[in-house]
Amino acid sequence: MPGSNPALPGILKRYWGFSGFLPLQEEAIGAVLSGRDSIVVLPTGGGKSLCFQAPALALAGTAVVVSPLISLMKDQVDALAANGIPAARIDSSLTAREKTELFPKLRKGEIRILYLSPERLIGASGFLGDLRISFIAVDEAHCISHWGHDFRPEYRQLGELKERFPGIALHAYTATPPVRDDIACQLKLDNPRVLVGSFDRPNLVYRVRRRTSRLDQVLAVIGRHPGESGIVYCLRRRDVDEICAALSVRGLKAVPYHAGMSDADRKRSQDDFISDRAQIVVATIAFGMGIDKPDVRYIIHAAMPKSLEHYGQESGRAGRDGLEAECVLLYSGEDFMIWKKLLGDIPPEIRRTVLEKLSQIYRYCTGISCRHRSLLNYFGQESPKPNCGACDSCLGELNLLEDSLTVAQKILSGVVRLKERFGADYTALVLNGSREERILANGHDRLTTYGILPEYSRAEIRGFIEQLADEGYLVKNGEFNVLQATEAGWRVMRGGETPKLLQPPERKPKKAAARPIRESWEGVDPGLFEDLRGLRREIARESGVPAYIVFGDRSLRDMARLRPTTPAGFLKVSGVGEAKMERYGDRFLELIRDYCTSHGLETG
Ligand code: ADP
Ligand code: MG
Ligand code: ZN
Repeated sequence: MPGSNPALPGILKRYWGFSGFLPLQEEAIGAVLSGRDSIVVLPTGGGKSLCFQAPALALAGTAVVVSPLISLMKDQVDALAANGIPAARIDSSLTAREKTELFPKLRKGEIRILYLSPERLIGASGFLGDLRISFIAVDEAHCISHWGHDFRPEYRQLGELKERFPGIALHAYTATPPVRDDIACQLKLDNPRVLVGSFDRPNLVYRVRRRTSRLDQVLAVIGRHPGESGIVYCLRRRDVDEICAALSVRGLKAVPYHAGMSDADRKRSQDDFISDRAQIVVATIAFGMGIDKPDVRYIIHAAMPKSLEHYGQESGRAGRDGLEAECVLLYSGEDFMIWKKLLGDIPPEIRRTVLEKLSQIYRYCTGISCRHRSLLNYFGQESPKPNCGACDSCLGELNLLEDSLTVAQKILSGVVRLKERFGADYTALVLNGSREERILANGHDRLTTYGILPEYSRAEIRGFIEQLADEGYLVKNGEFNVLQATEAGWRVMRGGETPKLLQPPERKPKKAAARPIRESWEGVDPGLFEDLRGLRREIARESGVPAYIVFGDRSLRDMARLRPTTPAGFLKVSGVGEAKMERYGDRFLELIRDYCTSHGLETG
């Protein structure tokens, strides 16, 4: 391959302890090595950092990386340092002393990767002149686009990079596919290599549930992840406070995060979460952008987000390390109304788009097809598998009505008998056989469709009507949301098509749901894994870094599976490079030896 570098596999193993590449990483690294501009679009957790960090070590000089947030830069520099890679950052949080120490090292070319905020890079007059810059990488590049969800004015200045640093290749990295052309244009990339990966996140299990009892439903998810990190997203501050208090009362370490808190309090919540002092963050959507915590094992949406873009982004913060994680969305029709109110007086031209996006995510919620496929299709990609094995639909957890054709036919005929002049509430009353005055006055108790669904409550029939509308068998017309059967609805009445209807939530599921596969636990001794976690926590505390900087969960599971007892064996563990071997090897090996001896376990 052009631009490939024979030293690369060695660099990968020596510094990162990885023995292979994730999809498109090799191509992305190749583009950097060949000196051609590039734009790389990979999902969250797709391994974008390595795409610029690895070639930085293979090329002479210093690579400059632009990143939007101090916390993200700090995280990456800490992770690089833990792997024995000389990296540094220059941002407003640096002390004068740190700066004085850094500049000579930069001048001597000892720092291989330098992180800068966009304003520092553009504003820097002196010191960059002394640097031999190998290339410039723009991380989170969607921040340059107005069309993205996270436009940052400082990023706009990056349009000057090509003039300010002529002849130096520019590489952009983002997880937001629709803005890639805009990024290339804003950065004035020169005939860039464009690499776009699949946005499927097969390790995430998606579930959607109608919200019936919010706290119980949230607790049920948390209960499946004892001691693991998770985020609960809410629409409003008061929901954050309520849920946070309720979790704390139950002895769970939960911290709040919302726009109404002071910067210092927010930072404390974030730090508690990153360092595992808090297990759960209960947050409004403001949380998550500034952190790259790889071991978030579940994301709960206590209410419907405002668009599928937001849902993709927020749920995508789970399982960055590639290990299984669970994303549960709890929704209710009420959320739609709350959003309308929260969004307030937006200009009519934007309002239409916003409402359309709300409808799209509401359809996702009420829909019953594969969640992975629905999300991928929304982002313009095809799903590779007919059954993903990782969503409520494919796992058979959705409790479908067995006689959905009959129920749908009864409802649709009910709508037609009412001459398509009534709304959902009224129609449900008639079908249920209500004795309400207005129904009798209209003579609707004499319709053949009167009282033909006595086995369901009025609310349940309402639910079916909503589902039929979501699936396009009914439409709601005019100011009064009058129901009308569509073409597809008529096909159902003639028996030519069978809609899927969900069993009302209160009714017991008829069968036990399949369990998603948990491959990454195969051969792992859970007790040993727990002990390794304990040691990791101890080391993290001693050295003042988050636990995941010491080792990721994937490495610990590998240790608890391979159970190495020698340095050579330890180096085979994914994520163990030379620096970590040297720094932590003895302590982990000792723990593994002791554990295996006392538990009569075979070692590797
Ligand atoms: P992104 O920036 O695309 O969201 P990151 O660069 O943060 O992704 O990487 C996500 C996770 O994948 C990290 O935990 C990282 O250690 C891991 N990772 C990256 N490349 C590899 C690889 N080649 N082999 C194994 N793990 C990898
Ligand atoms: Mg990243
Ligand atoms: Zn599926």
